[in-house]
Amino acid sequence: MILKNISLFILLLLFILFNSSPVICQVTIKVGGVTCLSGELRSGFIHVPSGQDGPEIQIPITVVNGKKKGPLLALTAGIHGCEYPPVLALQRLKEQLDPANISGTVILVHIVNIPSFLKRTIYYNPHDWKNQNRAFPGNIDGTMTERIAFQITEQVLRQCDYHLDLHCGDGNEDLMTYLYYTETGNSVLDNKTMALATNFGFKTIIHVTADPKTQKASMCANASLFMGKPAITVECGKLGRADEKDIAAIIGGCLNILKHLKMIDGKPNLLFDPIWVKKTTYIRSEHEGIFYPLSQGGSHVQKGELLGYLTDFFGNIIQKAVAPHDGIIMYIIATPPMSKGEPMVKIGSF
Ligand SMILES: [Zn+2]
Repeated sequence: MILKNISLFILLLLFILFNSSPVICQVTIKVGGVTCLSGELRSGFIHVPSGQDGPEIQIPITVVNGKKKGPLLALTAGIHGCEYPPVLALQRLKEQLDPANISGTVILVHIVNIPSFLKRTIYYNPHDWKNQNRAFPGNIDGTMTERIAFQITEQVLRQCDYHLDLHCGDGNEDLMTYLYYTETGNSVLDNKTMALATNFGFKTIIHVTADPKTQKASMCANASLFMGKPAITVECGKLGRADEKDIAAIIGGCLNILKHLKMIDGKPNLLFDPIWVKKTTYIRSEHEGIFYPLSQGGSHVQKGELLGYLTDFFGNIIQKAVAPHDGIIMYIIATPPMSKGEPMVKIGSF
């Protein structure tokens, strides 16, 4: 009888121990030059070494290391130099994240492509003229864009569990709000990525595929996916602007994901059923010249519709951008300069 009572007591003790929350056993997180203890918020830099094409640079980051145990979520902004709403959204999100109330860790990379941001260049890093979102997982002995990609991969993506790469229309792009769900063929990973895509809270989702067996990551989110971590690319904002509604939408989406991952209290605020874009088509420029858009991001268009045209530098029309199928304009270039081979319009169909 005494033995039975002792057993019951031990069982009761174990029950109390395993059901007492919160579980406080979060570990110290180190990212670049930032060491962040459990329960702390710390800002600092990831150092990218100099090379033949440019000086060393410092990428600004913040680590919010929750008191309670949970996943590590990475948020990256500023991969492209004139995409401002994600950059401003992360500054404000930092003020809203209290490590005392977070389960897990959030790494905020405020501006990945800091040279492009400071020199105000669209698409390309001003030192090597490469696209930061085509350079992952990067190379520490490569050009500046490749060195930045390498440090983000090694310092941030390798230790994260989930990743949101936050973009918008670059300085020349009139873009509608959407995000990418990338299917890899790994069903466990794909289900988790799908859950990120549908819980962010944006209505339009482009479904693309990327095969880690045959492809190089190239894009930042793919670098995470190819390491087995769920990751999505988000697009919200346009034309070098910093509209409040876009900043708010990005913050809302990030908070939805924090709730979805149970890193903060609450349920994602989902206002729409997603619309899936299964096919996208680019109309690219065949010449350099001056582009005249005749439509806008988010407009529904019909096959055969004239969406814009390209002239030479004297005003003679040299190419027409005609919709190859019915669909919606994901983005259209809305400033005059056009280089040869660049997208003039991206059209999605449902
Ligand atoms: Zn971008």
